[in-house]
Amino acid sequence: MGCIILLAKNLSGKVEVLSRYASHDHALSQYIRGKQAPEAITLSPCPPLLLRSISNSPFACIMDNYKPCYKINDALQELEMLAVNAKEAQQLILTKILERNQASEYLRKFMNGSTNISTFMRNVPVVTYDVVQPYIARISSGEDSSILCGERIVELLRSSGTSRGEPRLMPAISEDLDRRTYLYSLLMPIMNKYVSGLDEGKAMYLLFVKAETLTSSGIPVRSVLTSYYKSPHFLHRKHDLYNNYTSPDEVILCPDSQQSMYCQLLCGLVERQHVLRLGAVFASAFLRSISFLERYWCDLVNDIRLGKLNSSVTDIACRLAMVHFLALPNPELADELEEICSCGPWKGILGRLWPNVKYIEAVLTGTMAQYIPMLEFYSGARIPLVCTMYASSESYFGVNLRPLCKPTDVSYTILPNMAYFEFIPLEDGLRVTEDDEVVENDKLVNLVDVKVGCYYELVVTTFSGLYRYRVGDVLQVTGFYNCAPQFKFICRRNVILSIDSDKTNEEDLHNSVTRAKKILEDRNCILLEYTSYTDTSTVPGHYVLFWEIKSTSEGVTPLDAELLESCCISVEESLDYIYRRCRAHDKSVGPLEIRLVEAGAFDALMDLLVSQGSSINQYKTPRCIESGLALKLLNSKVIASFFSPRDPEWTM
Ligand code: AMP
Repeated sequence: MGCIILLAKNLSGKVEVLSRYASHDHALSQYIRGKQAPEAITLSPCPPLLLRSISNSPFACIMDNYKPCYKINDALQELEMLAVNAKEAQQLILTKILERNQASEYLRKFMNGSTNISTFMRNVPVVTYDVVQPYIARISSGEDSSILCGERIVELLRSSGTSRGEPRLMPAISEDLDRRTYLYSLLMPIMNKYVSGLDEGKAMYLLFVKAETLTSSGIPVRSVLTSYYKSPHFLHRKHDLYNNYTSPDEVILCPDSQQSMYCQLLCGLVERQHVLRLGAVFASAFLRSISFLERYWCDLVNDIRLGKLNSSVTDIACRLAMVHFLALPNPELADELEEICSCGPWKGILGRLWPNVKYIEAVLTGTMAQYIPMLEFYSGARIPLVCTMYASSESYFGVNLRPLCKPTDVSYTILPNMAYFEFIPLEDGLRVTEDDEVVENDKLVNLVDVKVGCYYELVVTTFSGLYRYRVGDVLQVTGFYNCAPQFKFICRRNVILSIDSDKTNEEDLHNSVTRAKKILEDRNCILLEYTSYTDTSTVPGHYVLFWEIKSTSEGVTPLDAELLESCCISVEESLDYIYRRCRAHDKSVGPLEIRLVEAGAFDALMDLLVSQGSSINQYKTPRCIESGLALKLLNSKVIASFFSPRDPEWTM
């Protein structure tokens, strides 16, 4: 028998799904509170076929009263059902989105009040943020959410994507939290399939919130993770042995990330024998915490020895939450930790500090892949690195059904109940369409119709007011799980440099360099050529620019530290908001470096790339180099290097 669902027939004869997980009494009372009492209630066993036969049942999107269930089979059966019925789920999602949002100003412009799917396919254009932004601006300044969406927009999620230097804000409705919670609830059942005993210990997950603001009309503007960690879905979660974190919520919610990191590491060290999993959302944040530990382990050990929290932690909620961890002095544990931390290089330290750890979880795909070698260093390449999910501020997307595969082999199965998904085929292999390039509607491919091996750009339509919105991610289809396609994350469209949540494209970099090179010109020097590179051998990583400079008058030397440092800070000042926030506030990106190369270095680079197959006629200096011989060559030509002397300006 499938799972039990509670169906209600409302007064207009429509059948609605009330509950699939929660206590049915609770589901019913919630329903009645919001609406009229249903006319009929049925408790029904619910195999996929029945679900399919309920024409109006948005089975995959209604998450009312959702309670995650970690019984492996139930959650995996649920996933199986969604994957088998991917096509139907997608159609239901789109129908529901159109029904709910048909009256919005945006949709009316193209659909004239229709909820017809073929009208949507024909008339609603594929758009980028520039089209959505004016609506977001109007809602921010007090206009009704109904210009975009049938439900109230309760928050704007600050994405790491930027538009003209400003962060993109994605609309969110309250129900979106249910969808996110749903995806999170699948992760442990999937992991359980491969790793046993995860309910016998704890997870040291280093989770952080970011500062939030309000629009002039009072709508919170925050990151999607901040929204989740502050939500009742997270804070009022049921005690769950499979999601038992070492970090208390108060510490996760501390707005000062340094204090939060200090306390979270302290908790993880105190509970070191119980920790079975380590992780963070992104690999960059995990590594930053480990390098913080490298710097502050003496203080942390001292706190454990004395049973007293360092006075540099001033946040009251953190101090209170930490009382329990430092109830008594613990010199034995302090001695053990001291011996481990003070001994030689930190290669393999994670396994020594947390001897029972079964895996490390973090996003390690896309730009985060650059952190794999560092993680392997700290883990001694003996602890599996696991990527579990793929998500964004626009929508959550999918899960990795083979979590123990190598990070380079990860594919994500898109969950067809998260949003309505379409794909722009990248016909010339990986030639990525520009933002302003019009994408014809008939080019788009549905979720279930993508082809294995092909590359696509992801487009979403959400409940919260994004219609055929280009997310900007390039994906490659690697296979199918039942009818749900699986994708490898290839890259973010047009991003060439990224360390943490910053994403710098070629144009942004070019504009910043163009501004900075004026400083050189004022001092009789010209910038002949440049390229860039993200150096992640330092923690935090930082942007490196290779510059070849020529002086235009006798006696001028470009090796003037003050001149080059002012160029560094000028480039940083003109990079976008997220970059400057990472540098100045989050401290997740280090100071930008200019490496001055000797005359002829870029000619040598060209010779090398042409010898590797680039056409001499079409040769363009790559504005970013990733690694390998090109990097080695440029590094061998460096005559001096300079760093930004201060943080760039950033205000919230
Ligand atoms: P944001 O909207 O700031 O949360 O950023 C979302 C973006 O982060 C996505 O569109 C991807 O480009 C990237 N991202 C999220 N999850 C993953 C993942 N598992 N692998 C690679 N990139 C990811």
